[in-house]
This record gives sequence, C-alpha cells and structure tokens, in this order.
Amino acid sequence: MKMYYDADVNADALKDKTVAVIGYGSQGRAQSRNMADSGVNVVVGLRENGSSWNLAKEDGMNVMSISDAAKEADIIHILLPDEIQEDVYNDQIAEYVESGNTISFSHGYNIHFGLIKPGEDVNIVMFAPKGPGSRVRTTYLDGFGIPGLVAIEQDATGDALQLALGMAKATGLTKAGVIETTFKEETETDLFGEQAVLCGGITALINAGFQTLVEAGYQPEIAYFETCHEVKLIVDDIYENGFGGMWKDVSNTAEYGGLTRRDYVITEETKKGMKKVLSEIQDGTFKKQFADENATDGANLKEMRAAEEQEDIETVGKRLRIACGLQKED
Ligand code: NDP
Ligand code: MG
Ligand code: MG
Repeated sequence: MKMYYDADVNADALKDKTVAVIGYGSQGRAQSRNMADSGVNVVVGLRENGSSWNLAKEDGMNVMSISDAAKEADIIHILLPDEIQEDVYNDQIAEYVESGNTISFSHGYNIHFGLIKPGEDVNIVMFAPKGPGSRVRTTYLDGFGIPGLVAIEQDATGDALQLALGMAKATGLTKAGVIETTFKEETETDLFGEQAVLCGGITALINAGFQTLVEAGYQPEIAYFETCHEVKLIVDDIYENGFGGMWKDVSNTAEYGGLTRRDYVITEETKKGMKKVLSEIQDGTFKKQFADENATDGANLKEMRAAEEQEDIETVGKRLRIACGLQKED
C-alpha cells in the first residue's frame, strides 16, 4: 500500500494553476471552499438557474457558467452527481478542454465505465475523500482532514500525481493520509461497499432484526431501540477501536452471544449474495441498470423511496426520534 501525507506533496504543485470545481453540492461546496482557503485559485462552474448559484456567491466564491469555468481552468474537477456527468461533460465542458489540462473527479464511475472519454493529451485524475462533504469542511476548519484516495488514469503531462495530491492537500486529505488506488479499484469497491454493506446491507440487516422482534409481538419502539438506534454506538466504537475495542466495551454476555450467533445471520448464502453484487458491478450489469433507470427519470427509484417511507421502521423510528429530541418535527 502506498500512502501520501502533506510532506509528500510539492509545495508548488498547483502554482499558477486555476482549478474549476464543477458543482456545488455535498462535495463541491466543501472541496472548493477548502481549496480556496488553502490559497488555490478556484473558480466554481454552475448552471445559472440552479439553487447552488446564489449559495456559492454568498460564500464568496468566484462563480461562472460551467463552460466559462472549463475555459478558465487548467484543472477541471467534476463534482456533479455521477449520473449527469456524461451529458454535462459532452455538452458544456469537452470543447473547452485544452491539451495538457487535467480532468479530475472524486469518484471513478464515468471514466471507469467509459461514459466520459477525454483525449489522450489530458491528465485524468481522481482524489476522493472517504466521507461526506460536511465532514470534509468541518475537519478542515478544525485544522485537520479526513482520509482519502488518489488515482491516476492518464498522465499526459508527467506531473498528474502531484497535481492530484496538490488538490488533495489543499482539501485537507493528506493531513490524515491518502492511499493510492486505480479508477477501477475505487469504482468497483466503492459501489460494492455502498450496495452490500454501507447503505444496502445495513438497512436490510436493521430492518430484518426490527421485523423479527415486531413479528414476535414485542413493542416496535423497543425493537427500534435495540436494532437501529444502538447501531450508531457500536459502529462509532468499531470506527475508533476496531472489533476488539468494541468487544471490550460491551458486556461479556453481548460478546459471547454475538460471537456465537452472528453466523446464524450472515451465512454462506449471504456471502453468495455479496459475490453476486460484486460480479454485477464488474460485468457492467449494474451500470446498465442504473443508466436505464436514469433514462426513465428514476421511476423505480421514486417508487422504492415512497414504499420505504411507509415501512414500520421508518414511521415508528421517526415518531420515536422526535419524541426523544433526536430529530426535529417537519
Ligand atoms: P451532489 O448531488 O451534492 O451535487 C449537486 C450539485 O450538482 C449542485 O451544485 C447542483 O447544482 C449540480 N447539478 C445537479 N444537476 C445538474 C445539472 N443537470 N446541470 C448542472 N449542475 C447540476 O453531488 P455529490 O457532492 O454527492 O457528488 C459529487 C461527486 O463526488 C460524485 O462523483 C460522487 O460520487 C462523489 N463523492 C461523493 C461523496 C458524498 O459524500 N456525497 C463522497 C465521495 C465522493 P444546482 O444547485 O444548480 O442543481
Ligand atoms: Mg459512493
Ligand atoms: Mg443490549
């Protein structure tokens, strides 16, 4: 494993460079503000009728149209939602990309799956914080950063790695450490993580536990506390101290019960399911389905969202979080 810290980054890596951050959402806002506060010449490229435009202006950023930003910049850092990057790149960016420029991302999706195809005379790089934009900004303001990844897909100028590391440093990532990866590895593992474990896996695990208790006649509020609310406490513990640290913190009863019963729940069948998740990422099945979904304006996605809103875990959970002051009423 190759890991980079502040000391590995050339002090003048971004000297005389203009970075255009395209998009001002979760990552765009945090990364562009951090880079600007670090002294990088940053312009923000946005659509003029969108809601980000005023926000970026109010934050004091140098805001312009996406095409103007692409024209101004040496480095075009694309932080739009992954599913719209291809169209925006082709319609508003591609014609302004000059030889020796750098196209940059925080997720390898559009390059790895061949949706965006820059010419051979530009750098293609990625640096990706391993956390949401809000954390990217707050940790930077606290004088630190969150860990991240860096990858170089194409090095046309010979200094692509230093350019990517320069942005990673200005964003605060090399304070915590940045691991070198490839576009392929980052894209496939990121998608796998969010599908099988982080977003898909954990909601399914929680809901299955919740439903098991409710179906057995226990109060749903009690079931919610035991199977959902306390997840955060355990995960925080694992995040800081690993499994071993967590086992030390819980009771011996919890440790013995957990170690002897967890294989009832996550079985070889579950692992088979995970392998299917991974192979559908690797063979392009997921990419194709997601593209079809976006072509229908997310019709299935809207249906699935609406259906989950009606699930007991969501309605009971919301009532309880409001009653306990954890969530504000709408
Ligand atoms: P967001 O969904 O927060 O991006 C929203 C921004 O995109 C807004 O500024 C919005 O502008 C703009 N936008 C949306 N649609 C359009 C459009 N059709 N034309 C022009 N601008 C548009 O994105 P994220 O920050 O979540 O993700 C950005 C990238 O970072 C992705 O590649 C993602 O995979 C990656 N990433 C995200 C992480 C996260 O925590 N969110 C973590 C690590 C990587 P407007 O206000 O005008 O609509
Ligand atoms: Mg992701
Ligand atoms: Mg307990």
